[in-house]
Amino acid sequence: MEFLLSDPTFAMACEQFHRVASFLGLSEKTKEIIKWPQRSLTVSFPVKMDNGTIRMFVGYRVQHHLALGPTKGGIRFDPDVTLGEISALAMWMSWKCALVGLPFGGAKGGVACKPSEMSKKELEGLTRRYTQELIPFIGPQKDIPAPDIGTNEQIMAWMMDTYSMQVGYTAPGVVTGKPVTIGGSLGRREATGRGVAFLVKKVSEILKMSNPLRIIVQGFGNVGSVTVRQLVEQGAVLIGVSDLSGALYNPKGINCAHLCAYKEKTGMLAGFPEADPIDGFDLLCQRCDVLIPAAKERVITKKNAGKLQCRILAEGANGPTTPEADKILEERKDIFVIPDILCNSGGVIVSYFEWVQDMQSYFWSEREVFDALYRILSATLHSIMKFSQERKVSTRMAALSLGIKKVAEAKEMRGVFP
Ligand code: GLU
Repeated sequence: MEFLLSDPTFAMACEQFHRVASFLGLSEKTKEIIKWPQRSLTVSFPVKMDNGTIRMFVGYRVQHHLALGPTKGGIRFDPDVTLGEISALAMWMSWKCALVGLPFGGAKGGVACKPSEMSKKELEGLTRRYTQELIPFIGPQKDIPAPDIGTNEQIMAWMMDTYSMQVGYTAPGVVTGKPVTIGGSLGRREATGRGVAFLVKKVSEILKMSNPLRIIVQGFGNVGSVTVRQLVEQGAVLIGVSDLSGALYNPKGINCAHLCAYKEKTGMLAGFPEADPIDGFDLLCQRCDVLIPAAKERVITKKNAGKLQCRILAEGANGPTTPEADKILEERKDIFVIPDILCNSGGVIVSYFEWVQDMQSYFWSEREVFDALYRILSATLHSIMKFSQERKVSTRMAALSLGIKKVAEAKEMRGVFP
């Protein structure tokens, strides 16, 4: 397993883990037991492409620990996916699920591919064959995938259908983030972004910040775009935004409806006429009230952490801030960090509600979903703030400590088999 440490994202997740484990005083044995992923599967499989050729793809699924129930986590379709990155993301899912009180261990999966350059037919072929390879590994009581970067409701529908065809009956509980017509939950699509917006509002009230909040968002996918729409509806002003095509900045405010219409039409943000293009790195360092990284890992580093000019750092992405950057933010003390495992947990919380609804074949109203989501987010934010104040540690340390402690206790109680 040591080879995983050569991956920078896995090394970062381990560094975070070791800091927290020492703070909690976990024994060396417990550290070893809960650090490494319990099960990892690497698959390579062929897909028939539209031009008649056959292409090989590599995919992964990692289940970090099984101490609290089945494992849970998204599937990422992205060219940079590696076993190390997926293992780190699975570990973070473990701390996240434990922190917010879900009966799941963490998991993550991914296929190295570029979905934007594939036809619908090719994507369906890839999804179905990848799911086929995962059949012995996943299931409603084993491991439950969900969407992540590059995947969506349609991909989940194909996964659910492929699994169901194999077992011979419809098994909606095998994935979450499905279309509502086939057992998905109302509110799941917006859950992560709405959770981020809810927490930003709560924290801005606690910090007594005045409205309107000026926000900058990195990433305009499912998480970034829903967060922006929601915050703008609550009165915030979007002043900067970026996606893979480029970054935009307008200190006077960017009209969100015009921006969404432009992205819908052209498929990208670059070239939007009502804002100036700006370097993506510089965008993160502009003055604002709330900075929301909502794309990939390791974007707030020791290079820019000292230059950030926000009051709240709301981590919509998983692992956006490196441990070196964390140290700088801890010394600065002027930025309130809403740590990733709380900030973006709305997605997996509503995934849990979807799984419960599928198990019971009894479906909730949107109101019930969001009321229950906000109750969990509110209570978790308060326990993190309490822990952070009482123990005089950062909100990240507090959140990770609460999550890791729960997993360590569960492992301890269950003991070592045989
Ligand atoms: N991919 C999302 C995450 O990183 C959601 C996972 C899920 O719903 O299982 O939290």
